[in-house]
Amino acid sequence: MAEKENKMDKIVSLCKRRGFIFQGSDIYGGLAGIFDYGPLGVELRHNIKQYFWQKFITEREDVYGMGAAILMPEKVWEASGHIGTVGLVDPLVECKICHERIRADQSEVIADHEKTHKKEKVEWTDPIKFNVMVGTKLGASEKTATQVYLRGEITQGVHVNFKNILDSMHPKIPFGIGQIGKAFRNEITPRDFLFRLREFEQMELQYYIKPDEAEGKKQYEYWKQFAFDWYIGLGFKKENLRLRQHAPDERAHYAKDAWDIEYNTPFAGWKEAWGIHHRADWDLRRHSEYSGIDLSYYDEETKERFTPWDIECSGGVDRAFLFILLEAYSEDRLGGEARTYLKLAPKLAPVKVAVFPLLKNKPHLVEKAREIYQKLKKEFGAVEFDDNGNIGKRYRRQDEIGTPFCITIDFDTIEKPARAGGDQTVTVRNRDTGKQERVSESDLVSYFKDKF
Ligand code: ATP
Repeated sequence: MAEKENKMDKIVSLCKRRGFIFQGSDIYGGLAGIFDYGPLGVELRHNIKQYFWQKFITEREDVYGMGAAILMPEKVWEASGHIGTVGLVDPLVECKICHERIRADQSEVIADHEKTHKKEKVEWTDPIKFNVMVGTKLGASEKTATQVYLRGEITQGVHVNFKNILDSMHPKIPFGIGQIGKAFRNEITPRDFLFRLREFEQMELQYYIKPDEAEGKKQYEYWKQFAFDWYIGLGFKKENLRLRQHAPDERAHYAKDAWDIEYNTPFAGWKEAWGIHHRADWDLRRHSEYSGIDLSYYDEETKERFTPWDIECSGGVDRAFLFILLEAYSEDRLGGEARTYLKLAPKLAPVKVAVFPLLKNKPHLVEKAREIYQKLKKEFGAVEFDDNGNIGKRYRRQDEIGTPFCITIDFDTIEKPARAGGDQTVTVRNRDTGKQERVSESDLVSYFKDKF
């Protein structure tokens, strides 16, 4: 276990050292459960979201994208059940010795806390319900300012726009609405780096279907598999992911059925990555009741009016980010030297290709390297140029940030045309194998074309 825990520490350190993730407001001592994304982190996160958007929205004919606001009035959350007795409430207990408050349903958190009181036996207060919604006020006058909430899940922004989408896009059922955006929860015990945050990002699909048991089953199975396959596509080994059904007492208040995609983490075993929930008509029915606006759907074909059911796929971007790093982090020996590398799927890598002149002080090598760098950058965007230090050190740096390919321009590039036409070759090095091959300069763009 110590070695496994160590992996998390190494990732946290790599993330800071290489510009992926920083503690939120670091120079002021940090803020628990809040992190900032650095230059490389923001690219990786963008690539995860891009892959979601491509597969769940743009490649499909039956799904619309949208982007709802973060701030929503209290009534939305009363309707959804997040404020009140059923919703986003976690059980909270307090340690009678030091008065620290923690979440009562996480045995590893309880055990960790009890270890901090080595000699005394810890007693806990009875659990109370703690609402994790983050509220604030809008309006300049105290008397008229209204209570609003930073959304606790992005889901409700879609449901409250159901009628707007019907009236503007005229979709035919079944159809989906997807979005990506920030959510906020005042988690009692934020922990495990990006796993449990107070500010995080979600990517979700709400898929509206006819209210029919057989249709519900069929669509639910379809989306469960779709979400699972999508997650595998992030570069996970199949054996490190599984689908697990919630027990009836574990299900959220809105769910008719619920399954999680779980990842086998080194820090706490199987943990939730995504939730696929059969929300039935809970949200649309409740928003109809609370807003007084009819949120039913009229089916032109069958001439029926009904409140659709909703199948939801809901995943955390930051959690996917963490799990991707845990899966990708690798150590081995290459050419007799120990190295660390991130075995990231090329489509996710923050830098796709790095271009090096073999030596910094040879202007013809530098000039050629810059020319190739510019050409590839124009084509692929995320390309880096590096002429610092020796070549081994440059490879190690790129390995550590997960760059799948490095190109070196050496004397042969300049002096030995590969073909009669005077075409020149460069060395392309593969991150995972360390193997190098010579590729003609004019073939480079097509060589990389299908790789990212
Ligand atoms: P948990 O049981 O871990 O608190 P949940 O069941 O409350 O999670 P959902 O409400 O289903 O989570 O949220 C959907 C997804 O959003 C989760 O699968 C997870 O990836 C992400 N998520 C939820 N809470 C957090 C958080 N505090 N920090 C980071 N990601 C989160």
